[in-house]
Amino acid sequence: MNIIFEKSNNVDGVNITNDDIKPIGISSEFLREDKIGLPQLPEIEVMRHYKSLSDMNFCVESGMYPLGSCTMKYNPKVNEYLASLEGFSMLHPLMSDEDSQGALQLMYNLQEALKVITGMDAITLQPAAGAHGELTGMMVIKKYFESIGENRTKVIIPDSGHGTNPASAMMCGYQIVQVKSNDRGLVDVSDLKAILDKDVAAIMMTNPNTLGLFEEDIVEIADLMHENGSLLYYDGANLNAIMGYSNPAIMHFDVCHMNLHKTLATPHGGGGPGAGPIGVVEKLKKFLPKPTIEFDGNKYYRNYDLPESIGKVKGFYGNFGVLVRAYAYVLMMGINLKNASADAVLNANYVLEKLKGAYDVAYDTRCMHEFVLCGEKQKEQGASTLYIAKRLMDYGFHPPTVYFPLIVHEAMMIEPTETECKKRLDDFIEVMLKIADEIKSNPEIVTSAPHNAVIKKVDETQAARHPDLKYSGDING
Ligand SMILES: *Cc1c(COP(=O)(O)O)cnc(C)c1O
Repeated sequence: MNIIFEKSNNVDGVNITNDDIKPIGISSEFLREDKIGLPQLPEIEVMRHYKSLSDMNFCVESGMYPLGSCTMKYNPKVNEYLASLEGFSMLHPLMSDEDSQGALQLMYNLQEALKVITGMDAITLQPAAGAHGELTGMMVIKKYFESIGENRTKVIIPDSGHGTNPASAMMCGYQIVQVKSNDRGLVDVSDLKAILDKDVAAIMMTNPNTLGLFEEDIVEIADLMHENGSLLYYDGANLNAIMGYSNPAIMHFDVCHMNLHKTLATPHGGGGPGAGPIGVVEKLKKFLPKPTIEFDGNKYYRNYDLPESIGKVKGFYGNFGVLVRAYAYVLMMGINLKNASADAVLNANYVLEKLKGAYDVAYDTRCMHEFVLCGEKQKEQGASTLYIAKRLMDYGFHPPTVYFPLIVHEAMMIEPTETECKKRLDDFIEVMLKIADEIKSNPEIVTSAPHNAVIKKVDETQAARHPDLKYSGDING
């Protein structure tokens, strides 16, 4: 019984009598005659209801969440405290520049910090998510080609790319051309050469890519693209492997986005409100969304005087509360962001090393912040990747990302992040090894998982294709 209407016990939670509410000036024909049918519960029961709903959720505060590509690191609670300060949380976005110097300075400083992290020349904080950043970046690229009078129609994306990449490029009207990965899991340069022509506006790449591997040929790829007059877009949703070691500018990219809700420890908003700022090289700066946040040496201000801007991509200046959290994290970490990356890579390699006897590894080499296992062997023994994911839930772990990247059969993409301690990594390793043993001796126990979850097993195809979001119980009954 999870619906508050079903819990209603007709005990008045609040005493409002008809005498308390007298409609004034509303014609009787518009007044409700029957009871509205709201649930009636004492406040404590309401609290228990919502608490029990929240207990059904899994979060990093309940256990390890090795969801590859999503970087489910722990978000320090001091970020929340700072974002809730009255001076930030009660600020109105339409207040004048003069009256919001602190907020503008914070955004400006965050832009400067992101310039250091990415090596880019200019930043906008407006986009509300990674995919939204991609769209913004592709709009900038499109505007750039318009400005030089070229009509390029294609965007190249590796077969290991995140699904949002082709979606963003297509929304800008580009035709998607796929470039193959080679047997090392990296972009196949000879295939790239074969498909590269003057219609290509850009390539969208993730580096390290979604297999957790560093694209070693990136400089050669960048030269090929630039010689062809094309641009390079960097999907920096997750910068967790490279902060302080490399950056998109060093790799010769022209545009990048970054997810503050992955790398910079702000909450993942379930599609928003997040923040996916983008960075661009100097020649693309004039196309950024307006207003830009600038400093004249004396005052911080919003600059709307940008005739070549792509326009606005979000109300006001982005999700300010998220920006405060990210800025708090950046200030707190400082140069230690580099250590966060080092530890993220170390943790991933440690787990990979311990698991690779029991599971096949998609590309058996050192990984970056994440790695991809292949569950083909376990599938043959009677339990495919989907069941391994469900079985992990029985042991208190969030499943890894599964069946992505698409080029690995039975993929399990594992990203422990730097915020997990060795003890927790060892617990995870032990459970993964135990599941591999269970599959050998008794696959049934794995294929019937999860055994403790509130929702057992859903029909994934039905859920994706025909979601039924309506509660069918009788609310008033
Ligand atoms: C998460 C992710 C995205 C999309 O970011 P959202 O904020 O979810 O829109 C894009 N690319 C990669 C590689 C990602 O991991």
